[in-house]
Amino acid sequence: MKYISTRGDRTPRGFSDILLEGLAPDGGLYLPAQYPKIDDATLKRWRGLAYADLAFEILSLYIDDIPPADLKRLCHATYTAATYGTDAITPLKPLEDGVFLQALSNGPTLAFKDMAMQLLGQLFEYELGRRGEQLNILGATSGDTGSAAEYAMRGKRGVRVFMLSPHGRMSPFQQAQMFSLPDANIHNLCIEGVFDDCQDIVKAVSNDLDFKRKYRIGTVNSINWARLLAQVVYYFAGYFQATASNAQRVSFAVPSGNFGNICAGHVARSMGLPIEHLVLATNENDVLDEFFRTGTYRVRGGAETYETSSPSMDISKASNFERFVFDLLGRDAARTAELFGPKLAKEGGFTLTAAEFAPAASFGFVSGKSTHADRVATIRDTWQRFGTMIDTHTADGLKVGRERRRPGATMLVLETALPAKFAATIHEALGREPERPAALQGLEALPRRFTVLPVDAAGVKRYIEAHC
Ligand SMILES: *Cc1c(COP(=O)(O)O)cnc(C)c1O
Repeated sequence: MKYISTRGDRTPRGFSDILLEGLAPDGGLYLPAQYPKIDDATLKRWRGLAYADLAFEILSLYIDDIPPADLKRLCHATYTAATYGTDAITPLKPLEDGVFLQALSNGPTLAFKDMAMQLLGQLFEYELGRRGEQLNILGATSGDTGSAAEYAMRGKRGVRVFMLSPHGRMSPFQQAQMFSLPDANIHNLCIEGVFDDCQDIVKAVSNDLDFKRKYRIGTVNSINWARLLAQVVYYFAGYFQATASNAQRVSFAVPSGNFGNICAGHVARSMGLPIEHLVLATNENDVLDEFFRTGTYRVRGGAETYETSSPSMDISKASNFERFVFDLLGRDAARTAELFGPKLAKEGGFTLTAAEFAPAASFGFVSGKSTHADRVATIRDTWQRFGTMIDTHTADGLKVGRERRRPGATMLVLETALPAKFAATIHEALGREPERPAALQGLEALPRRFTVLPVDAAGVKRYIEAHC
């Protein structure tokens, strides 16, 4: 399998070439040259597989430059009952008739990002070992992504993580989660500023190309193709659990921000998985809902980007969206480059022509939005009727999934985080504290490792130099 850029660069690259890369050199995102098609016999054979074996089968279609025995070993090292709490890895929980939650957040940081990041940790260690190279991952986090990256890379040979976070501004749980890691290759740098200051420092350090090359600075952001690929697997796993035969179709409701999770659903559907609808749920930050209703993509400014109680969906633009638009336009790279290139930054958005937008429905997409009041009501209702406690992001997905569900259809709502991470809203909805997995009891009492630094890129560079 070769990989191409959404903006037209056709230099053929293998999976291992793009694994450690961010954007393509022309500024586009990497996609496979085509989506492998799964026939009915293959789908039947996959139905009985354990999660790690299913992951191996799907990954094999996209990765031909890692020997199969090695890839299989990495899949089995990643998707274990010990890490995810069950043999099913992403088990379904039934709600009302035909509606299920698919649990994606039983990994170490209690959010679905572990599903992909844990595999990325294995792949990075393997590829760096093969090349005899080192990588220093530099990132900024306000919570979820940073902790998922740290738990994936902890103890991995050849990898160090330097994670910037705004000092004192993450939730007590998130701080305890990250700062209690004892691993020597994990560095928590608390910046005396806000999240944007952290991001600006990461940009400033990455823009110093000499420094970047000398210290082998890399990232693990959500545009990484390997992360997206890992997420394709659980759409198949959910489908097999919810159906008895391949004649059945199911729909997925996906709490969305940067369009990474639902883009994996689009890939699964493009491979031939019988998905009826991909229901995209946003919170008050409704950039994507607006697009799927109108064909207009309008990036939001700072003043129009709201802080909500489902904070991992608080986006002003969606970094993986270009991949879907490329497919929607029949893979017209010139037009994709025109839409997402400098014009987007200048004009703040674009509107597709009616002819360009018309096929969106045939890709299965429908959308809707959810507000804080909807989240609180959905959390309360789910607790009262089913005794199941859900988090705020999952509540957005469930609310919109129900709204958009065709009567009688099977709807899988992706559970993207556990309620333990969002105690304040759980308290507002239920008047009680969220449940917490047994392994994380007493987390706040563990010793902490972090370094406080001022808002200054030079100081962060000095820290990296001193710890490489
Ligand atoms: C990251 C995240 C999302 C959004 O996922 P995207 O892939 O960015 O669309 C939703 N819910 C939770 C809990 C997350 O951490």
